[in-house]
Amino acid sequence: MKLVKDPVCGMEIEKSANAGEVEYNGTVYYFCCSGCKDKFEENPEQYIETDEPDKGHHGHHH
Ligand SMILES: [Zn+2]
Repeated sequence: MKLVKDPVCGMEIEKSANAGEVEYNGTVYYFCCSGCKDKFEENPEQYIETDEPDKGHHGHHH
């Protein structure tokens, strides 16, 4: 089994048991429940881990 992290609540869930998935910026995020999925869809950038908390300038990391 493969564990994925719910970016909203931080819980690790089994990928095959996710309650919903959303693709954002080319990355698929999985959620433990529809409530977390709804929160993410409302404000995805709030839950995505970025190197720079300061959003003053954008950079692409790959
Ligand atoms: Zn969750």
